[in-house]
Order: sequence, then C-alpha cells, then structure tokens
Amino acid sequence: MDVNKIRAQFPILERKVKGKDLIYLDNTATSQTPLRVIEAIQHMYTTTKANVHRGVSSISQEATDLQEATRRRVAQWLNASSEQEIVFTRGTTEAINLVASSLSDSFENGDEIILTTMEHHANIVPWQLIGRRKRITLRVVPINQRGELDLDIYRSLFTERTRLVAVCHVSNVLGTVNPVKEMIAIAHANGIPVLVDGAQAVPHIKVDVKDLDADFYAFSAHKMYGPTGVGVLYGKKRYLEMMPPYQGGGEMIANVSFEHTTFAELPFKFEAGTPDFVGIAALSKALDFIDEVGYEAIAAHEHKLLSYTTERMMQIPGMRIFGTSPDKSAVISFLIGNEHHYDIGMLLDTQGIAVRTGHHCAQPLMHALGIEGTVRASFAVYNTIEEADKFVATLERVASMLG
Ligand code: PLP
Repeated sequence: MDVNKIRAQFPILERKVKGKDLIYLDNTATSQTPLRVIEAIQHMYTTTKANVHRGVSSISQEATDLQEATRRRVAQWLNASSEQEIVFTRGTTEAINLVASSLSDSFENGDEIILTTMEHHANIVPWQLIGRRKRITLRVVPINQRGELDLDIYRSLFTERTRLVAVCHVSNVLGTVNPVKEMIAIAHANGIPVLVDGAQAVPHIKVDVKDLDADFYAFSAHKMYGPTGVGVLYGKKRYLEMMPPYQGGGEMIANVSFEHTTFAELPFKFEAGTPDFVGIAALSKALDFIDEVGYEAIAAHEHKLLSYTTERMMQIPGMRIFGTSPDKSAVISFLIGNEHHYDIGMLLDTQGIAVRTGHHCAQPLMHALGIEGTVRASFAVYNTIEEADKFVATLERVASMLG
C-alpha cells in the first residue's frame, strides 16, 4: 500500500493549521473524504439533483437509480440477503433510535435490554427514552482492566425478561474489538436478537452480517470516508417487517386518507421524507475507495501505526493508556499523569495536531474508569509513521512543559 498515493486523494490533508501541516488524528469522530466522494456530490448537484421516487422526469429517475444502486451495493457489501434489509438513515444514532422506537412497541413493563459499559451515548439514551412509555431495565456487561467485556457476566445477564442485546462492535474510546459473533451466538441461544453498533467497525473491519448473524447492524458513512448525513441500518427482514414505521411522512406510505394509512414495502416504510439522496449516491464512492485499498491493507497499516505509536507513547513518564486489549483498533485514549485532557489537546492543536478530548459521548465508561475524560488519538489509512513521530515528539514536549 502506497500511503502517499492514498494521501493524494484527500485534499484536506494539504491544509495548514496554525501554520503547521495538519496532522489529523480524530478519525474516530469523523474521517476525511477522498476526492471521488467530493466529486460525486458535486457531480450530482450540478447534473442530477431531482427528488427521488417522485418524478416522471429523466433526472428524477437518474437520481433514484443512483440511490437504489447504492442500496444494492451496500447490501452486497454487508452480505445482506436483500436490499430490502438496507434502510438509509441520517447516521448510526438515527438507526439505533429507529430500532429502539419501533421494536419497543412489542416490549412490556419490566422487560430488560443488555448493553455494555463501553457503549456510546447513541446506544444508551435511545433505550432510556423507551422509559417514557414503558418501564425498561438496562443490564450492563462490565469490562476488565484491559477494557474487554466479561463474557461470563454477559451470559449470566439473560433472564426471561430480556428482549434485546445492543452492543458496539468496536469501542470508540478503548478501541476494543468485541467478540460480537460469539455474543450474538450466546444471545440467539437464549432466543434474543442483537443490535450491533458498527460505527467504529466498518472503517476498519470487513463486516459480513450473515456470518455474524446480526439481527441489526448500524453505521455512519462519515466515519468511513463517506459524506456526512448518511447512515445505514441493516435489519433482518423478519424483524423489519413486524416493526411499525419510525416516522410518518412522504415516501413511507402506500395509501393515505384521513381515516387510515397503509405503509410502503420495505425498506421505504422506514424512510419518511426526502432522504439525503446526494450523500447516499456518494457513499458508493467511499465503498469503492475502501474496496480499492482493501481491508487487509487498511488493517495492516493501521495496526502498524497503533503498535508503533503505543510503544513510543509508553516511554513518556506518567503516560496512562486506556484500552489495552490485544484485539484493538487504531484508537489510543490516554492521559498524562493528572493533567487535564483539554490542556493536552489544546497544546497539540498549536502544532496542527487534531485529536479529541473529553468523555467521547461515553460518560458511563468514564465513570467506570474513574476519570472525567481522555485525550483520544485515532488513525485512518492515510496517517503515516512520520505523523506518529511528530505526534509523540509533541506529546513529549507537552509532558515536560506540564511537568
Ligand atoms: N456509536 C459509536 C460507537 C460512535 O463512535 C458514534 C460516533 O462517534 C456513534 C455511535 C454515533 O454516530 P453518529 O453521530 O454518526 O450517528
């Protein structure tokens, strides 16, 4: 893999921040976008912007074809059984809210959902919102010292009231790659469906929903070199069919009268209103980019960056890294001594190095770790060893400055 050829496809990597070359290490929050995705958006706005599924006009038909071709592409890419199992959403958050809102129609007071300590708020709060209508208990799988889930406790959390397991494939803070295939098998042995939050997995790992046997799988395009405002919910047809619509409006209906409305077929039943059809069409270019580089090459490169940077960081006095599982994606959450994460992030920014600081939308995990927040550096396929060197050298200076 030629990282320079890859970097050349990302115009933003040429920019300066505070007079220095941008070193972008906030890929977990959002990744950068290759030119082909930007060009696809521009092309559609300049040639093919007409509302999908509504027009008899040629350009409306072309726009619809582009959107539906992406749906087929995503279905193949995930190894789904049919494109009817692919619902476009605004992102992972909306995908999880959709399932929480619709699936919970069949829940009853006292039912239970199993989550884990390392969930993003997007996979906690939607389940709590059900509580406005029904009394639901969240049962939480704890983590060990390395930031891995305790599967023995997970097994013990199933009761006759369990209705769903909702778990992230990869932690956005610890980087831990969870054994979701095994967790799904355990849930299914108990007769329980599983929703996987794949937001941090799809940029790094080839996902096959059939192999995992996931019942729902959610992710966001903007974290996988795609456009903002687009997400995917994969759902097994038998679940999507029995679930009521999430929102009402255009596109999701078959017939409307003031007395009664019937709903469209899958997946349109869940796609009320005009979708971000430009973003959806451009998502297929992000998939092209990933396929062209290849997951094996992406993983090899990112693991090299992860182990090299971790080893060098560990030489810095007072370095505390959170998440040390051997099965880890290229995310490094850390603190130096008791210094505030924000101060470290600000000092890195003065050198053009973009990281994230704070609780990373995972406050329950922060409580479990006994901290308020961390600094998080996360890598993508376009990052280099030279950038890792500059990052660590800056951290060394920051550490000695902060004493
Ligand atoms: N789940 C995880 C694990 C995440 O890391 C994120 C975003 O950081 C989300 C869900 C929410 O994604 P989005 O804001 O794109 O909906």
